Amino acid sequence: MHLTKKPEGILLGAHFSIAGGLHNAVLTASEYACTALQMFTKNPTTWEERRLSAQDVQQFDLARKKSGIESICSHASYLINPASPDRNKYERSQEALQHELMRSSQLGIPNVVIHPGAHMGTGEKKGLQRIAQCINRAFEKVPEARCRLLLETTAGQGSNLGCRFEQLAAIYHMIEEKDMVGFCFDTCHVFAAGYDLRKKNTYEQTIRDFDEVIGLELLRVIHVNDSKKGLGSRVDRHEHIGKGAIGINAFRFIMNDPRLKAVPKILETPKKDGLTDYDRLNLERLRALISN
Ligand SMILES: [Zn+2]
Repeated sequence: MHLTKKPEGILLGAHFSIAGGLHNAVLTASEYACTALQMFTKNPTTWEERRLSAQDVQQFDLARKKSGIESICSHASYLINPASPDRNKYERSQEALQHELMRSSQLGIPNVVIHPGAHMGTGEKKGLQRIAQCINRAFEKVPEARCRLLLETTAGQGSNLGCRFEQLAAIYHMIEEKDMVGFCFDTCHVFAAGYDLRKKNTYEQTIRDFDEVIGLELLRVIHVNDSKKGLGSRVDRHEHIGKGAIGINAFRFIMNDPRLKAVPKILETPKKDGLTDYDRLNLERLRALISN
């Protein structure tokens, strides 16, 4: 399936599956006429690591060259919690992070997205310190890693950190190799965390806040997701573009914001339902918003 309308000058894609091989994520992105994509480099729901074979890397390289897609990011396992107060879980998280950084480096993927983690009732300050320490140690252990780690904004469910821009900035201040760390802005999470995006003035205020507290130059990936839940609900439920509590206007602002033009935009919305191909629908919806 090839789309007729080719997006120009905009880095837009979705999270695609690696079922059947890592290269399949790139091939699928290409079929959807994407110029960017996100993928896992292993099964994200288990601790089991995946060692890449020479063939894995070769096939991936080939698919990437054929597709011409350069803007690729990976998403780390959901199990990783660098803020964990449990020694075992923390060490395991650090090791898993090292493996992720190495696999992504081997594949030539420049950015790895990670959720900062949950402090599990031990308090914000200690949690933020553990996150920074975990990242610092991971980069120390694998100095050959060539990819950047992007901390994602979160909805703030439970004791999850990263729902305030100030928390993300606090982690960044404690990072030793600042060149190796950046940020990922998820529209659903930011909205659920209480930052409004629905009207021009509230959108501007949110982007201004992000710029003042973190800095737009550190923004490397945007996750474009509508939200099933309301402003400040702190519940992370992704919805199709324009069909949720955020609404279509916010996405029009984002798709046409010159400050965000060079930042890849990735969909993480529900995929297929019966015969409906929602990736195609959501990508078309976003492309149609671009007014040039
Ligand atoms: Zn996300």
